[in-house]
Amino acid sequence: MSERTFYVTTPIYYVNDVPHLGHAYTTILADTLARFKRFTGHRVFFLTGTDEHGNKIAQAAAKAGEAPKAYADRISAVFRDTWQALNITHNAFIRTTDPPHRRLVQYLLQRIYDRGDIYLGEYGGKYCFGCERFYTERELEDGKCPDHQVEPTFIKEQNYFFRMSKYQGRLVKHLEEKPDFIRPERYRNEVLAFLRDPLEDLCISRPVSRLSWGIPLPFDANYVTYVWFDALINYLSGLGYPDSEDSSTFWPAANHLIAKDIVKPHGIYWPTMLWAAEIPLYRHLHVHGYWKVEWGKMSKSLGNVIRPLDLTQKYGRDTLRYFLLREMVFGLDASFSEEALISRLNSGLANDLGNLVSRVLTMIEKYLGGRIPQRSNPDSPDDQGLVHIAEAIRASLSRAVDDLAFNRALESLWELVSAANKYIDTSKPWELSKKDTQALERVLYHAWEILRILGLLLSPFLPDTGQAITEQLGIDAHVEQSRIEQAAWGEGPTSGKIRKGPPLFPRIEGGFAAIRGQEEDQPAMSEISLAEFQRLDLRVGEILIVEPIAGSKNLLKLTVRVGTEDRTLVAGLQGQYNADALIGKKVAVVANLAPAKLMGVESRGMVLAAEDAEGRIVLLSPDRDIPPGSKIR
Ligand SMILES: [Zn+2]
Repeated sequence: MSERTFYVTTPIYYVNDVPHLGHAYTTILADTLARFKRFTGHRVFFLTGTDEHGNKIAQAAAKAGEAPKAYADRISAVFRDTWQALNITHNAFIRTTDPPHRRLVQYLLQRIYDRGDIYLGEYGGKYCFGCERFYTERELEDGKCPDHQVEPTFIKEQNYFFRMSKYQGRLVKHLEEKPDFIRPERYRNEVLAFLRDPLEDLCISRPVSRLSWGIPLPFDANYVTYVWFDALINYLSGLGYPDSEDSSTFWPAANHLIAKDIVKPHGIYWPTMLWAAEIPLYRHLHVHGYWKVEWGKMSKSLGNVIRPLDLTQKYGRDTLRYFLLREMVFGLDASFSEEALISRLNSGLANDLGNLVSRVLTMIEKYLGGRIPQRSNPDSPDDQGLVHIAEAIRASLSRAVDDLAFNRALESLWELVSAANKYIDTSKPWELSKKDTQALERVLYHAWEILRILGLLLSPFLPDTGQAITEQLGIDAHVEQSRIEQAAWGEGPTSGKIRKGPPLFPRIEGGFAAIRGQEEDQPAMSEISLAEFQRLDLRVGEILIVEPIAGSKNLLKLTVRVGTEDRTLVAGLQGQYNADALIGKKVAVVANLAPAKLMGVESRGMVLAAEDAEGRIVLLSPDRDIPPGSKIR
């Protein structure tokens, strides 16, 4: 990654869900890379966007009662707004419904078709009509669709295929000759292992009769393009390929960042598609692991889905960046919890860095009246030691970033933070102020200068913090426009006044326990009278029938006998109980709850259940047999 032009991409995110922690991580990673490359003088293009075609989107739109395009417009805007709120510096935001993207997909399909690498063939497979998709044997659970619990039907249909098999040997050779094509090595090995078996051709069409929400094939209007064949091309269309200046500047210097679940489309489909279209391959594919969320170490206010914006509103956006970049070793899985985030905030950010900035600026205010200290010679051995560490760390950062070792980069910057704290401890400016004003000036100059360098070197990783430090030092500069050469020792101004501000990172006193404690101290719910309680019509019900609800991951449709009446109730029990365990069970039902429609199903009442901190749901049942319809009081 030493080219002077640098192109970095995130995957385009599927609009069937709003942004979660995984999306935020990949995007923050790409943003840090983009910022660092600009900082080191590269011309950078950073692309992100949304993937908007395909069956899942059509279904999500139908469920929301919207047209697919209107639905995609809405969710895509949520992604764009989230990245803006997180201070992400992408150059372009591509949507696969953008007309230039659609045109490029059709252009490349036609080109590959004309070259003979797309043909009409027959496809047979197990198809779930509920999901409207084919399943492979491996995806089925006991031979059944995991969502609908029904056995899929074997169907055969004509479809277009991309002759991917033709490129198998060439791809193996490429991976062997270019060991850093896919990084880290474990994912390259994963792809090579997959390529030990014969590579099958890729089905790249869907009949319009089944799915119309897609890009029509240019050579057969009865079909739309398979969503991956459409989506991967965003990396070219986002640059304005083939006729734009950006595409000739930045392709093929592409660095694709992805999570490990989409290695196969990026490591196999995409390079073979590029070869078939006679386009040079991208430079690198960088693959990161998953965040495993530890719900037991989360406060209730964050709910049971992590929204990046909730976290940044609570703790600040650089706190989130710092945690994500420091905690994950690139390529491996890592754990996320609020408890660990608070502990990183309190120790690394508040105690080490925040405290350093605050104590240096306080001393400059106190001993120099806020005047920026003057550079003076000669340096003491302690001064030289500090200068040496700063220079060594500045020189090492590019290597760490090129290795995607963001944790290492931050660790080394924190070595500089602790070296500076130690320097102040041993130089004791508070004693020098009483006896040696020249030495005091020299020590405060070094302390000020180290903060200036830290502000710059931190800026690609923690942009708000880098900017805040720079401003508090009395320097008028946008760190985003600064270059790493300016972080050399002695490059700062030596006149003007500092502008000490509020602490960079206020500590969370008491840590996670305090945050959780506050929530538990919330006043209990207000008292109600017996008469109010008696307005609830609570009854024993017996579950007769259990059915899945199309597209819902947690809801089940229950038919429950309450007295002489059989009612439809919707309950969030999917994944909590097997259907077999529910049928025949007696439960507590709120019988006079106003009806509500959930995922298109009208629920007439509610089943009572208890939920623990881990989100496990347990039904309340009578402990002896009693007829359905019996009153609970
Ligand atoms: Zn299904």
